[in-house]
Amino acid sequence: MSEQIKNDRAAWLQGPPAECLPPEPQANPWRLVLLGAPGVGKGTQADLLHQRLGACHLSTGDVFRAATRSGCTPSPAMKAALEYMRRGALVPDATVWEMVRERSHCILNCRGFILDGFPRTLGQAESLKELMEKEKISLSAVVNYELPVDEIVQRLSGRRTCEKCKSIFHVTERPPKVEAVCDHCGGRLYQREDDRPESVKVRMQAYETSTMPLIQFYSGLGLLLPVAATGSPDAICARTTAALAACV
Ligand code: AMP
Repeated sequence: MSEQIKNDRAAWLQGPPAECLPPEPQANPWRLVLLGAPGVGKGTQADLLHQRLGACHLSTGDVFRAATRSGCTPSPAMKAALEYMRRGALVPDATVWEMVRERSHCILNCRGFILDGFPRTLGQAESLKELMEKEKISLSAVVNYELPVDEIVQRLSGRRTCEKCKSIFHVTERPPKVEAVCDHCGGRLYQREDDRPESVKVRMQAYETSTMPLIQFYSGLGLLLPVAATGSPDAICARTTAALAACV
């Protein structure tokens, strides 16, 4: 991952007063939401799409994980949020929206955005819609990554993340060259607490109850773009960019 990409996410990951490098304006910025069950590969795709389309990768899960590693004492709301995350449960809408609202300049910036893991409930989707309408901007598309459940569980249980640069590996499908060591920065690879079997079960239930209704919601707005999440990350990304090109 390049230095520029790391810098570019500071405003999002740390919140105010952190700032990113000055954004390069895009003539037609992409404003995307990525939907799909946990483990379907939204984070990997968001990174690849960021590299191809230039829009900022905004992941709410990454903000929570950054807070656990920051070394600063978390606010009481953030402390409670991290407890939900450890269990695999959804953080309450009010906390999530407060966090996103604080960072709304990342959504309104002229490079566009790729939202990964947000919105996750109808309430969050309504809040995002309201903010964007007020600012007179609209979503380009909502990509819905589709994958059978048994494959999702297999992906989640083998997923390993670099504690330094956040690169994602898989013990069998995308193994690092040296076991448990990141190919890109030499950082240690770890298993996310919420990728453990007991948390995975809770996350899948939360997805079915709270996030699946968003498929209907965005389909009703004519924004939904279904993409099969099978094959290599590059193949899925190519499928995504082809679907995006066909929808504009
Ligand atoms: P993710 O990396 O997107 O899978 O998010 C990891 C965890 O952070 C989730 O399982 C939730 O506990 C929490 N989280 C992230 N984004 C949201 C959101 N938009 N709404 C509620 N909880 C969230």
